[in-house]
Amino acid sequence: MADTGRASVNTLEPYWMPFTANRQFKSAPRMVVSAKDMHYTTDDGRQLLDGSAGMWCVNAGHGRDKIVEAVRRQVTEMDYAPPFQWGHPGAFELSSRLATLLPGDLDHIFYANSGSEAVDTALKIALAYHRQKGEATRTRFIGRERGYHGVGFGGTAVGGISNNRKQFGNLLAGVDHLPHTFNLSEMAFSRGQPKWGGHLADDLERLVALHDASTIAAVIIEPVAGSTGVLVPPEGYLERIREICDRHGILLIFDEVITGFGRVGDAFAADHFGILPDMMTMAKGLTNATVPMSAVAVRKEIYDTFMDGPAGVEIFHGYTYSAHPLACAAGLAALDVYSEEGLFARAAALGPKWEGAIHALKGLPNVIDIRNIGLMGAVELAPRDGAPGARAFDVYLECFANGLMVRQTGDIIALSPPLIVTEAQIDELFIMLGAAIEATD
Ligand code: PLP
Repeated sequence: MADTGRASVNTLEPYWMPFTANRQFKSAPRMVVSAKDMHYTTDDGRQLLDGSAGMWCVNAGHGRDKIVEAVRRQVTEMDYAPPFQWGHPGAFELSSRLATLLPGDLDHIFYANSGSEAVDTALKIALAYHRQKGEATRTRFIGRERGYHGVGFGGTAVGGISNNRKQFGNLLAGVDHLPHTFNLSEMAFSRGQPKWGGHLADDLERLVALHDASTIAAVIIEPVAGSTGVLVPPEGYLERIREICDRHGILLIFDEVITGFGRVGDAFAADHFGILPDMMTMAKGLTNATVPMSAVAVRKEIYDTFMDGPAGVEIFHGYTYSAHPLACAAGLAALDVYSEEGLFARAAALGPKWEGAIHALKGLPNVIDIRNIGLMGAVELAPRDGAPGARAFDVYLECFANGLMVRQTGDIIALSPPLIVTEAQIDELFIMLGAAIEATD
């Protein structure tokens, strides 16, 4: 019989880690083995303060009993249910709860398993919607530079991160991009929304003129760009994007995979900025990351358009694990925890403390910008000559050594703690980050 002993075959080599410098990692692994509330524990028994909510996803903190118990109960009762032509109560209950929580008439929910799948789902819904309305020429998508929409073909194509695109050739045809909204000289050290930059939305008019509105299906943007370093929308920007989309019959998709579920101090960024998109993608905090799940919320008119179509299956799209019972259980319990503990309001209430603490790092060596909104923040460092990203990566490693988990992207350290963070933990976080920045040349 083959040897199935785990220890004898367990090396670091076979796991090809995603978005990771595999060779660097495997020469000096950062391994976490347990997590509770605001902390991870490493394999050598150290506590790490979670300054990034895992990857912007563990909004209620780790190992929350209510969520764990709900998942445990569900897996015992019914592990799996087919989502095509079958239902289970959790899927309908979660959808009803989300429809109530979501702004405006974003009141129908389609499920997937990752942010990437939610994005590709939203893009496909946009195409099918226009076709259903007799506007089949609307096939073009507009994304934005420095946007991150996951790693599906659609999401990579509308995304605006060159490293994510350049290995993969042409991706989706007929995609164009708005300029990103970041301008160091105009907005360095802004607190909340930058005053400068609302006019950048007018570039959408230029793209409409270039391509003709009749070819454009949708614009997709993150209301606050997260992965490329917390780029907060300038005042007036989202309003203008919404107006231009309305003027030309273009659907507006907000990718709220990061900003959803309290991160900006409201349930969704759409609430915070008072702008209603036509579709919204969400994931991460949807289940507090306990079980993978993502979703696309669509406005009533979009859903109704499909329901007015021919009888039978209305959209030929879905996943084996859409509305997985364990994910629905985790989602319902996460929503309970968010509301019982008032975590979205808590994020808003902690906003001023967070803002003051992060901006107190101004003046430390190499810090060229600090920005924040809700419980999101970023500290940008001057790049080393000829080695972009190296300085922030060293800060990141130093944080790990000091007992702090953060995110690093380029020369930016990004922060987004679980919404249960205390004021004392905010102080602790910035003391550790400040020390790491000072220790790095
Ligand atoms: N969209 C946004 C805005 C994201 O931040 C992410 C992931 O960070 C995604 C989509 C992709 O999500 P996933 O990694 O779950 O596919």
